[in-house]
Order: sequence, then C-alpha cells, then structure tokens
Amino acid sequence: MKPVPLFWDAETESKRLQFRQFAQEHIAPHAQEADRQEHMPHDIIAQVASQGLLGSLVTSEYGGRNDDYLQFGLLNEELGAACSSVRTLLTVHSMTVQAVMQWGTAEQKKKYLPGLAQGRTLGAFALTEPQAGSDARGIATSAVQTEGGWILNGVKRWISFGQCADLLLVMAAVETKQSTPANRQAIALLFPTNTPGFSRQPIKGLLGTRASMLAELHFNDCFVPAENVLSRPGFGLAVCSSALEIGRLSVAWGGVGIAQACLEASAAYAAKRRQFDRALAEHQLIQAKITDMMVAVQTARLLCVQASRARQAGHPHSVLDVLMAKYHAAKMAQQAAQQAVQIHGANGCSDEYPVSRLYRDAKTLEIIEGTSEVLQGLIAKQVRMVLNN
Ligand SMILES: Cc1cc2nc3c(=O)[nH]c(=O)nc-3n(C[C@H](O)[C@H](O)[C@H](O)COP(=O)(O)OP(=O)(O)OC[C@H]3O[C@@H](n4cnc5c(N)ncnc54)[C@H](O)[C@@H]3O)c2cc1C
Repeated sequence: MKPVPLFWDAETESKRLQFRQFAQEHIAPHAQEADRQEHMPHDIIAQVASQGLLGSLVTSEYGGRNDDYLQFGLLNEELGAACSSVRTLLTVHSMTVQAVMQWGTAEQKKKYLPGLAQGRTLGAFALTEPQAGSDARGIATSAVQTEGGWILNGVKRWISFGQCADLLLVMAAVETKQSTPANRQAIALLFPTNTPGFSRQPIKGLLGTRASMLAELHFNDCFVPAENVLSRPGFGLAVCSSALEIGRLSVAWGGVGIAQACLEASAAYAAKRRQFDRALAEHQLIQAKITDMMVAVQTARLLCVQASRARQAGHPHSVLDVLMAKYHAAKMAQQAAQQAVQIHGANGCSDEYPVSRLYRDAKTLEIIEGTSEVLQGLIAKQVRMVLNN
C-alpha cells in the first residue's frame, strides 16, 4: 500500500521513493534475523553508508547529502519502517554530525565530517550513565584538565552502537579542586574510540531495537586532546540539548515508520486471514482498528512534517514542535503496534511475523531521547513560554 502523498515537492517525493525502495529491498529482509541475533551485520551498515545515507545532514562541502529536515525525516520514516535498529544508527550518528556541524571548529569539521558523511566514521551519543538517566545534570564521568587536553574517567551505559562506533559525542563533568557534585560544569568532547584506556561491553537481552549494538562504555584515564573539545566548560548541556533535538526528530519520524509498517502489515493480514466465513477485514471491529491506525499515523506524520519544517525555517517554536512530534509519535507507534499484534492474533506473538518486533521496538521509543514523562514536563514548560510571549 502506498502512503498517501503529503505536502512536499517532487524532488522530496523522489527522494522518499528512493529511501523506501532501498529500505524495503536491502534492510527490511534482514531486520528479523538481526533482531534474533541481537547484532547488526557489518554488511548492512556498509550498505547504508555506501548510499551516503549516514551523511544525510552533512553539507555538500564535506561530502554529505545536505538533505533538509523534511527529507531527513522521510529517510528516518522509511528506515524506521524497515528496521528500527538501522534507524537508531542514523539517529545517534546524526546527533554526532549535528553537534560537529553546529559547535565544531573549522578544523574539527574538516577532520571529522567527511568520514561521518561517508560512514567511514560511525558516530554515537554517550550521555546516559548507570546513575544518571533522565536527569543529565547528574553525570559523574569526570573530565580533569591536564597539559594539552583532558583526562576522562567514568562509565556510560545504554549507548546505541557503542559496540562499534568510531567517534563518540561524550558529555562529562569538569572536575577541579573547587568543584562539588552540585556545581560541576558539563563539557562536550569528541572521543575517538581507539583512545588508550577505553573499553566496551556489549549489552544483550534488550526488549526492543535489539540489533542496535548497545554497550556499556568504560573510560579509564583516557586522554582527550584539547582540539577535541566541542564546547567550553559550562556549555556541554547546550551541545547535548541541540543533539537531542535531532535525536527526537529522528525518533518521531521513526515512530511514524513503525506505525506505517504496522498498518500495512495489518491491512494485508486482515485481507487474507478468514474467520467466521469472511476475511478479518470484513469484521467491523477490525475495520475500526485499521481506521484508527490510519488516522493516527497520518496525524503523527503531520506533526513530524510541521516539526521538520519549523526547524528548517529556524522558527522560534521549533523546539516545541519537535518535542510534540516525538511525544505523540512514540505513543502512537506503541498503540498502533499493540493493535497490529491484536489483529494478527497468535501469529502476532510469533517472531515469524514482523509485528512482534515492531511492538517491542515501538515501546523503546517512549524511553529514548527523553522519556514520555520528561517530554511532558518539557512541553508544558514550552507552552508556558509560548503563551506568555
Ligand atoms: C534501547 C535504548 C537505547 C538507548 N540509547 C542511548 C544512547 O545512544 N545514548 C545515551 O546516552 N543513552 C541511551 N539510552 C538511555 C536513555 O536515554 C535513558 O534510558 C533515558 O534517558 C531514561 O533514563 P533511565 O533509563 O535512567 O530512566 P530514569 O531516568 O531512571 O526514569 C525512570 C522512570 O521515571 C520517570 N521519571 C524520571 N524523572 C521524572 C520526572 N522528573 N517526572 C516524572 N517522571 C520521571 C521516567 O520517565 C521513567 O518512566 C538508551 C536506552 C534504551 C532503552
């Protein structure tokens, strides 16, 4: 089933069709096995990279595709519909790209962006720690200034593609003789994973996005040269917030992709499966579910289009638009996936049908890049600001 065309121009539609064809032909057929194995084959990453898709947000000057945020969103939708773990790679990689593009020096851009654009360098985002989740101010990974750079010590957990990333965007807390846990300033660093003292442990047994190569990362007296600092002390959380905004936009569109995949799988299954002498699609309660899914996915897609457009235009409300899109799309994807499993009955509980994976993947969207509860708080804060201006 073809998604109904929305409000974008012919060039964007042609890109969307290319993304869809690539995702359906080269990614979707491997998604179930990658999920079973809890591993993303190198060949899949290489194929995504060879299409230049990891350079979606990199400007052409550095060898990227220079997609706008709507095109980036549509890429996330199509990859998300095919395999949430591959979409996760695009998410965390693009967060690193965004940070270098927005905050990097000319030297950092020249050094890192060409490799990130071509996928020779895989980026990942390292914020969360065993004791610091929603409250990023609680990070304990320490950065101590030394001659020519910084010494990093600490542990990061739940880092997507941490098992294989080449370059991490790491948030750390600056430690000085005067600092206390309450007043330590955050710093953002670009961290090559071939740095001595760095090690990683794979995390297995995840509920969803099981092929997204999560790892726990250990920094043991790792030296980071001064030229790898992205923000001066005190501005680390600003770098983090701007990267998270890209992450949220990516995840929002990924949620639309999951829901669209659920809708297509459910419509096809309901047309074929017969009970009580007729196709499931002819039972009114099943029709109601398909109707609700269709309306929900289209509504969330519109919010995503709005968020992408607002960000592209640099609109002052774009932060709110992105937050709303992520909050709504994650919830919607979870509900759509739940209904898809219901329509598939016992088959929906089996890993022979993709809806069981989509259901598990959808749940993680309500936790990553800010949980739904954290987003509710942030949206309410933005609403107060918007209404008072
Ligand atoms: C599949 C997956 C991939 C991930 N990838 C990455 C990654 O690449 N990089 C990275 O840095 N991190 C990553 N994470 C970590 C993720 O960002 C955190 O799990 C998330 O921020 C929530 O933190 P937490 O799990 O510690 O939950 P907690 O912060 O402990 O929250 C637990 C519960 O309490 C609620 N809660 C917390 N504070 C409040 C509040 N103020 N008001 C109301 N409710 C509240 C939360 O909403 C949640 O429901 C990943 C996690 C998963 C599951």
